[in-house]
Amino acid sequence: MTRPRPSVALYPGSFDPITYGHEDIARRALSVADRLIVAVAETSTHVKSSVFDVAERVELIREVFVGEDRIEVKSFEGLLVDFARKQGATLVVRGLRAVSDFEYELQMAQMNQELWPGVETIFLVPEARFSFLSSSLVREVAKLGGDVGSFVSPPVLERLAAKLRHG
Ligand code: ADP
Repeated sequence: MTRPRPSVALYPGSFDPITYGHEDIARRALSVADRLIVAVAETSTHVKSSVFDVAERVELIREVFVGEDRIEVKSFEGLLVDFARKQGATLVVRGLRAVSDFEYELQMAQMNQELWPGVETIFLVPEARFSFLSSSLVREVAKLGGDVGSFVSPPVLERLAAKLRHG
């Protein structure tokens, strides 16, 4: 008898930087998939002025999930569906914080469905206390000298402080 193939989910985004909201979604994804690939987009339509380059973001996410052997971190260029296919991923995970996320997420999910029907997008909802949290807000508050210690993991906080100190 052949065993069913382990399910692989892709969690794409910019993650500049990874926040507790992203971590929450990634851990939830492990209850629906056997393996999760956190996929940092090299070309993001979202991030206008990044704080960390892609290699640094990948490194930070790896630090955050150290010891989680079902989570891998990679970067990708080009179409998400092409990367999903190459990685053998049949699920794409996205987080929904509020109604404001919905329209864009729905459009993207339906576009990806058109581009490759082999992938299914699933939406997961974070714990309520992370609903207001976004990377852009963390970047902004940190740049203005605010304390973002309750929004990001210690390694992220440390690197953020060092980065902003040195311009
Ligand atoms: P994008 O580049 O599309 O803005 P991000 O890199 O910020 O995406 O995040 C990737 C995914 O994680 C998106 O689906 C986004 O909705 C989700 N996400 C970001 N922050 C949170 C949060 N605080 N709670 C739940 N989901 C989140």
